Amino acid sequence: MGISRRNFLKGSALAAGGVAINGKPAKASADSTELRTKGLEVTTTVCPYCAVGCGMIVHTKNGKVVNIEGDTEHPINEGSLCAKGSAMFQVANNERRLTKVQYRAPKSGVWEEKSWDWTMNRIAKLMKETRDRNFVKEEKIKGEMYTVNRNDGMAMLGGAALDNEECYLLSKFARAMGVGYLEHQARI
Ligand code: SF4
Repeated sequence: MGISRRNFLKGSALAAGGVAINGKPAKASADSTELRTKGLEVTTTVCPYCAVGCGMIVHTKNGKVVNIEGDTEHPINEGSLCAKGSAMFQVANNERRLTKVQYRAPKSGVWEEKSWDWTMNRIAKLMKETRDRNFVKEEKIKGEMYTVNRNDGMAMLGGAALDNEECYLLSKFARAMGVGYLEHQARI
């Protein structure tokens, strides 16, 4: 149905009147935000993309994410999210998202699905082999022998999404492995 200029102006005047009389906008017939999330399970989380660490609210229905938005009560972002954080919903609900470990053996062109147990054992075994193969126990410096206990075959790189405690644990782990090449993504 078309709307005449006269009716449009009449409608606008009535809406403005609603504001003037009540001191606030007339209540909408349906609050879309409320309807969209009503009855859904609510949990909070932190955006994993960067070190700002914005708080998010996640709405789920039967275990499936149906909405993610900024947490207005979070002290970091007070409800706002950048473009990446705002698109987080698409990470959770994406048919291209990998949910199982994919492994491609050396010189193979085929990806195989592996369990987490197999994967963690494989990583631990390779790390141990690499450390044993490259471990430097002592080093001569200016004619003197020093104990250095250094692992020259590995490096460790932190990411901006890591928090304080994670950085602490990772650096302790790296030192225990003898890793000297310990860096952060933001510095390279
Ligand atoms: S929403 Fe943006 S700014 Fe906030 S943590 Fe995520 S990526 Fe960083």
